[in-house]
Amino acid sequence: MKVKQNNFKKFWKLGIEEYNTNYFDISQDGRLLMKEGNFQYNLYDIIKKYGTPTEIFFPTIIENRVRDLIDTFNAYIKILNYKGKFFYHYPMKVNQNKEFVLPIVADGANLEVSSINELYLVKKMLEQQKLNSKIKVICNGPKNLKYINLINELRNRGVLIVPIIESHNEIKAFLKFNREVGVRVNLNIKTNSHWDKKFNHFGFSEEELLKIGKIKNLSILHYHISSQIEKIDGIIKPLRRAIEIYYKLKVKNPNLDTIDIGGGAGIPYEKKKHFYKLKTLVYQIIKTAKNYSEKLNIKHPNLIAEWGRFVVAPAQITIYKIIDFKPVENKKDKQWYIIDGSFMNDLTDTWAIHQKWHVIPLNYLNNIKKLKKVWLVGSSCDSDDKYTAGGSYILLPDIKECEDLNVVFFDTGAYQDSLASNHCLLSSPLKLAAVNGEIRVIRRRETFEDIGKKFGW
Ligand SMILES: *Cc1c(COP(=O)(O)O)cnc(C)c1O
Repeated sequence: MKVKQNNFKKFWKLGIEEYNTNYFDISQDGRLLMKEGNFQYNLYDIIKKYGTPTEIFFPTIIENRVRDLIDTFNAYIKILNYKGKFFYHYPMKVNQNKEFVLPIVADGANLEVSSINELYLVKKMLEQQKLNSKIKVICNGPKNLKYINLINELRNRGVLIVPIIESHNEIKAFLKFNREVGVRVNLNIKTNSHWDKKFNHFGFSEEELLKIGKIKNLSILHYHISSQIEKIDGIIKPLRRAIEIYYKLKVKNPNLDTIDIGGGAGIPYEKKKHFYKLKTLVYQIIKTAKNYSEKLNIKHPNLIAEWGRFVVAPAQITIYKIIDFKPVENKKDKQWYIIDGSFMNDLTDTWAIHQKWHVIPLNYLNNIKKLKKVWLVGSSCDSDDKYTAGGSYILLPDIKECEDLNVVFFDTGAYQDSLASNHCLLSSPLKLAAVNGEIRVIRRRETFEDIGKKFGW
């Protein structure tokens, strides 16, 4: 019995550290379990009680990932005798839910904001005494007068706040800031990823930045190359390039002491290819920073990473119920399974960037003999509201033999909430948190009244 159970786990790619599924297991009756220390959640029972579509968030996973990230950097700093320090800044845009942000900060993260409204959240944290005075806040994004005023206000209230300068106007705006500032460089280097566009407007080109030369109180050189970078090289090459720029900038900016490598560490969403491990990635980063700065005969820079997706994606799953099915026309071997939610609305990247996900059934997990090749469709009227795993298929049990079939999407904790919408006026899912063996409703399911109001009804 035990051996068989392990086969099912392997088949559905559960219980594997590399895939971030080490917390998940299968019950004797074929249902998905999540294990948090001594606690265990039977996710099917939870759905029976709360209904679908539902997102379940596991703060433990976030906490472990933040700690692991910081510890790994510090461990390699020690092992490789690196003289600079490491600082982790959580980029709030990746998931601004309070229930996500607070544990991240409590576990030692600093913050990075991309807009004035995210900075308002920082102000809220300050006023609610949830902002430890050691937390440093990096401010990215185009800065209008209101944003600049809020930065100044928080600075005057004692927050360690660092504007990242991205234009000539912003240089002028922060001439009287009198505290450390950063500058963003648009590195002349490409990685193979969706966001690494041929042309972009972020920060100064290398040439322009070197022409500017001196920037008052400059301490951080910042860049952000892309997100979901699939190869270690895509992270290491930009770092080398940045160290060269840092070296040249330092001549006129002696207080420059930190390189902020931005976001980009990836998640093995598809659980398919061999994906790099955190340890390997961090080792390469520290080794590169050390070797390169020694080659240029400069002090080892402090390092900042703003990895968001890496920390929060695996901390949430999304569950839908299959409410109907039909054959796919002219594709005899495939069927449409219709879910009670919407990919376009709740997992927007499915539609926007053809994101691939790890998808498994929530129940009937020990019944892998008679699986069907399935394409999933959402409940909106839109022909783009579907998930076919990139024209391939998803393996799910035969719905005709199942009484109540549900599907689980893993790694849905990054970006999807703030991109979510209400196409066809479908409701946003319920959001639950599972902590210390208990289930808490953190966002109730949107009712007709809630959505009607948004549209003036
Ligand atoms: C989006 C963004 C990040 C986070 O990127 P991930 O790929 O989620 O790690 C970090 N820094 C900046 C400036 C960003 O724009």
